[in-house]
Amino acid sequence: MTMFGERTVKCMVCNTESSHLGYDSIHIRRPQDLNLDMRHTGQFSVSMRLSIQECPTCGYCAPDLSLGPETAADVIRSTEYQEQLKSPEFPHLANVFLCHSLIQERENNYAVAAIKAIYAAWVCDDASHQEGAKKCRLRAIRMYDKAKARLQTLTSIMERHDYGFDYAAVVTVTRTSIKAIYDDTVLITDLLRRAGEFELAMVSCKKGLELQPEKDIRTLLEFEQVLIEKKDIDKHTMEEAGMYFRIRALGLDDT
Ligand SMILES: [Zn+2]
Repeated sequence: MTMFGERTVKCMVCNTESSHLGYDSIHIRRPQDLNLDMRHTGQFSVSMRLSIQECPTCGYCAPDLSLGPETAADVIRSTEYQEQLKSPEFPHLANVFLCHSLIQERENNYAVAAIKAIYAAWVCDDASHQEGAKKCRLRAIRMYDKAKARLQTLTSIMERHDYGFDYAAVVTVTRTSIKAIYDDTVLITDLLRRAGEFELAMVSCKKGLELQPEKDIRTLLEFEQVLIEKKDIDKHTMEEAGMYFRIRALGLDDT
């Protein structure tokens, strides 16, 4: 069961105190309940709101306003940050995640910067904001390329950054099982496909298959290949991938 709690937090940048709701404990869903981009099928913007805080005074955006790097104050003062926070191109919650992404980028934490851009894309998805979602996914891919150059992986830390407060122990238990069926290749292929970058998505997918991954990952990549060929930009679950090939094997599909 998921429980919520309210906390008063002092902003590490401007010392303003503000109250925020967050998770006290969380219900972990099964790995097969994940979309191909690792979003839980039951995760909505309203719950994602609890995983990020925004200072009402200075606009600092972080999972916990009392924590953060020294460079945060500089980033917040920048025109890029202030314009992002108020950008009419995205829903406000997406702007909050993108602002945190900018702070992480300054710290060279490119994998976290990418993940926060993915969260912003999910907020856009929920608001049926296709253009915003595409921009967020393209930012995630740019951040991923930088993360890769520094040997930072996305999927190994994605779950750790999924909730607001103290949940690290719970997440550790599930991370192993999730990682076992997943890797960055699937996530990046899915980001490219959902951004409508079908050619690049196919290149990423084939590259992943050439590495001869274990069966579960291969199934996900082969399902991505089918979706890319159909120019499908919608969300799909990991469970659908397995089901698709089981149905095909039985000759029950209509393709
Ligand atoms: Zn502040």
